[in-house]
Amino acid sequence: MSIQNAYLNSLMDRVMARNPAEPEFHQAVREVLASLVPVVEDRPEFIQEGVMDCLVEPERIIKFRVPWEDEQGVVHVNRGFRVQFNSAIGPYKGGLRFHPSVYEGIIKFLGFEQIFKNSLTGLPIGGGKGGADFDPKGKTDLEVMRFCQSFMTELFKYIGPDTDVPAGDIGVGSREIGYLFGQYKRLRNEFTGVLTGKGLSYGGSLARTEATGYGLCYFTDCMLRDAGRSFDGATVVISGSGNVALYACEKAAQSGAKVVAMSDSSGYVYDKDGIDLPLMKRLKEVERKRIAAYAEERPGAEYHAGCAGVWQIPCGIALPCATQNELDLTSAKALIANGCFAVAEGANMPCTPDAVDALQGAGVLFAPAKAANAGGVATSALEMSQNSMRFYWTFEEVDEHLKKIMKDLYHNASAAAVRYGAAGDLVAGANIAGFLKVGESMLAYGIV
Ligand code: NDP
Repeated sequence: MSIQNAYLNSLMDRVMARNPAEPEFHQAVREVLASLVPVVEDRPEFIQEGVMDCLVEPERIIKFRVPWEDEQGVVHVNRGFRVQFNSAIGPYKGGLRFHPSVYEGIIKFLGFEQIFKNSLTGLPIGGGKGGADFDPKGKTDLEVMRFCQSFMTELFKYIGPDTDVPAGDIGVGSREIGYLFGQYKRLRNEFTGVLTGKGLSYGGSLARTEATGYGLCYFTDCMLRDAGRSFDGATVVISGSGNVALYACEKAAQSGAKVVAMSDSSGYVYDKDGIDLPLMKRLKEVERKRIAAYAEERPGAEYHAGCAGVWQIPCGIALPCATQNELDLTSAKALIANGCFAVAEGANMPCTPDAVDALQGAGVLFAPAKAANAGGVATSALEMSQNSMRFYWTFEEVDEHLKKIMKDLYHNASAAAVRYGAAGDLVAGANIAGFLKVGESMLAYGIV
């Protein structure tokens, strides 16, 4: 993807030279800079005042050793990260990812995306992200607790309810948040809303667990309705079977769709009768089993090894909810050939750039992650508000806020696309709408 502006193009070259061997970060920055060409042409001060140069450089990167001991007494050393990317509109906010693939480039790409996503929610939160190359899979609860305590023993120095408020992401669910929060509270001797995604008994918000998946469906519903379509009666394929995927499945089914396939990193299941969600939740949330176990328990369901095959299944709506770059050009072509009319990203950057081009080129409705999966962080911000007020809303109240946020977000992204000559292109619209509020604030601060 070329960037049709000489300054932004040279800035992209500098980003690549200064951040070598970080392809995911380059991919995320390139997409945003390409979208912002009409904005800087209209408002050259964003370049002249250094906003664009500051935007692509994290305010701070923290990188640290995380030593822990397993149940056999063997010591392991992982690497932890927190990228505090941009605090122009509020405290840094973004999840923690525990996965063996984590390195600085992944956290930078996620932190960069988070700036625009958080801005799009309309709430006062800046962009950050963190994590470690630790794999919770196959570890005992005791080992996960030891790792989380060691991780927080370093991280606590850099975060706080008005500074940086982490949450979960891949590999960090309610169990990990509990251990992390417990250790923060012990070290600081204070009870504050420093993490979101907390358990309901100690400050969590109702509907936070459901928020990303539900929000994805609320956003997709707006996009479908604008095009005269809906979830009702549609066949849906979802990748992943983690937090985002499970609640996207729940809301899609509640909206009248039939979800026929889900996956994990080993393979996928196809269930022509529609995914049995209580069974899938038990296997994944409670028993932490591989998805193959679903086909063993559910008559008529098929298991296939290899997760990319999930995109070969015919569907009207595809919701990639697993990980970055999981849906490539080959998969996009299969979706198009099979009559898919909408793709909405639940995961962060799950579609490769050539897949996005192919889908948009074929007229498939396309909802980019920054906008479509912003419901999770938006509800995290609602959790922060409730913690500050020391007061809790009902599930229905939080869900109503979420619905409104996703609806407004859809309309803001589509309106920005129209205003800058890219009507119907929600990728451009989300990048532009997300940037404008952050860019205006950065201009107001001067060179800082
Ligand atoms: P979970 O850890 O709950 O689930 C992740 C799912 O994706 C699992 O099914 C996992 O399979 C699969 N997966 C992970 N890595 C790979 C891989 N390399 N290849 C294939 N499948 C993989 O994470 P979440 O559901 O929380 O997050 C999923 C995506 O959504 C991520 O991109 C995350 O950044 C994004 N997101 C999450 C939000 C949230 O609120 N949780 C908010 C906004 C975005 P397996 O179990 O086999 O590893």
